[in-house]
Amino acid sequence: MIDATLYLAGIRKDTGEYEEDADSCQICKKMIINAGIKQVIVRTGKDGYKTINVEEWVKNDELLDGKITY
Ligand SMILES: [Zn+2]
Repeated sequence: MIDATLYLAGIRKDTGEYEEDADSCQICKKMIINAGIKQVIVRTGKDGYKTINVEEWVKNDELLDGKITY
């Protein structure tokens, strides 16, 4: 999976709408990093998306800042 692209979309159970600003938990981030995935494209709404450069998760490790997201 080296340099692969992963697509992420979340649907809210209560509204059936796309979850805006969906994000991976820290465990999934580590698995994505270790798999060699290069970018994650996240659906942010009906017509929107954002692209995350996985290298940024390596450079800015939230665990080092004490942030726990799972
Ligand atoms: Zn996860």
